[in-house]
Amino acid sequence: MECLFCKMINGEIMTDKVYEDGDTLAFLDANPSAPGHTLVVPKVHKSNILELSEYELNNLFKTVQKVTEMINKNLKPEGFNIGINHGQIAGSRVPHLQVHIIPRFKDDKGGMIQMVVSNKPKEDNATIASRIMAGEELPDYIKRQIKDYHQEEKKEEAKESEKEKRSEEEKELEEREAELFPPRKNEVNSREFKKKIEEKEEEEEEDIYDKMLKRMRIPN
Ligand SMILES: [Zn+2]
Repeated sequence: MECLFCKMINGEIMTDKVYEDGDTLAFLDANPSAPGHTLVVPKVHKSNILELSEYELNNLFKTVQKVTEMINKNLKPEGFNIGINHGQIAGSRVPHLQVHIIPRFKDDKGGMIQMVVSNKPKEDNATIASRIMAGEELPDYIKRQIKDYHQEEKKEEAKESEKEKRSEEEKELEEREAELFPPRKNEVNSREFKKKIEEKEEEEEEDIYDKMLKRMRIPN
């Protein structure tokens, strides 16, 4: 294979190797930007992270972490820029995925990773985010959250309809009770009662009047 990195992996070209395992190789960049500038590559010939399997991706980034740890411990930089040039436009010169680990030292005249491009978006971020999300399969944890939400909603609905059912049953019971035990017609009763009392009072009054008349009877 004509790939430069594949040749390094096969041992056809010498490298300044700093780490190697079954799936990955790490070596110093031949044209370093800083002391300890290292490239980590997968042993399979793939051009970018989109082509990697989950297994290959895990191994690659495990090695990135391992080598960063080694450099950190032994060269004692103050920080790192770690990144990938994905595609020719982004500066990739070898079509074999490589992760750059660039140690950062005081006054090294470097910048931050955001400085590699200056292309301010014309759309707002919300629009761009929705474009990125468009047609995307939602992650499992969000699907689970949605499922849980719908289940809760169904539970609430069930509770509500249970409540409605119960209040309907209560209504029916009340109606049946009303049929079986009709409410007393208090108003009519009390009116009748009042009438009776009045009649009685009138009678009594007449009696008293009679009695008084008798007492007051003037001798003829
Ligand atoms: Zn290759």
